[in-house]
Amino acid sequence: MKKIIISNFKMNTTPSEMKTYSMALATKTSESKNQIIVCPPFTHLSVAKQFLDGSKICLGAQNVSDAEKGAYTGEISASMLKDLGVEYVIVGHSERRSKFKETDRLVNRKIKTALSCGLKVILCIGEDLATRDAKQAGAFVKKQLDDALKGIYENELEGVIIAYEPIWAIGTGKTAQVKDIQKMVELIRKEIGYLYSEKSGEQINVVYGGSIDIKNYKKIISLPCLNGALIGGASLNVDNFAVIARENY
Ligand code: PEP
Repeated sequence: MKKIIISNFKMNTTPSEMKTYSMALATKTSESKNQIIVCPPFTHLSVAKQFLDGSKICLGAQNVSDAEKGAYTGEISASMLKDLGVEYVIVGHSERRSKFKETDRLVNRKIKTALSCGLKVILCIGEDLATRDAKQAGAFVKKQLDDALKGIYENELEGVIIAYEPIWAIGTGKTAQVKDIQKMVELIRKEIGYLYSEKSGEQINVVYGGSIDIKNYKKIISLPCLNGALIGGASLNVDNFAVIARENY
């Protein structure tokens, strides 16, 4: 089954390292049937574009401004990314929500701006440990979805990938259990079904993220309910990421 394999470099590596990484990844995954999306820092995007050219690997950014243009010093707009050849943008990553205080309303505005510029969105949602322990994870994730997708039309969902990333699993070495991933993905699809239609719930792309690595990737990404994975730390090693990205699931 064809899967979507997404990397998130976070704030790691340099543009010069991106050149070697891109060339190596393109070579090592040339036979892959999966859709590979690489999300390096903004400063690496031009280099990545240049050295991924001719491969089927897509480029994504890790963030985007909710504003279209203007007096927003230090921000990067959706049209700037589009012009560089970027196709995807991660929105609502838990690190943006917690460390940069991004709210559900801001996430919603970012999604609208990105989609209206023709970018596809990787929308991250997921609960923290306290919420999970309080048995509120389902309600929390549902609300994040409802708020993020407010005013987004059903036909725009084609451009949205939902990344279920339990916060307690990101960068911690603890992955969610398979049965919990299945339960949450089912809940996400049901909520999309409720907000839009059953068909959209079935068709929306849902990926999992949280401490996927070279040892555990197969049993998680192979889950039929999942369309793929978002990989942080383990994507920094091009050999490991290429193995995960070229696997036949
Ligand atoms: C992430 O950054 O979205 C992520 C899933 O990181 P890691 O794979 O390192 O847990």
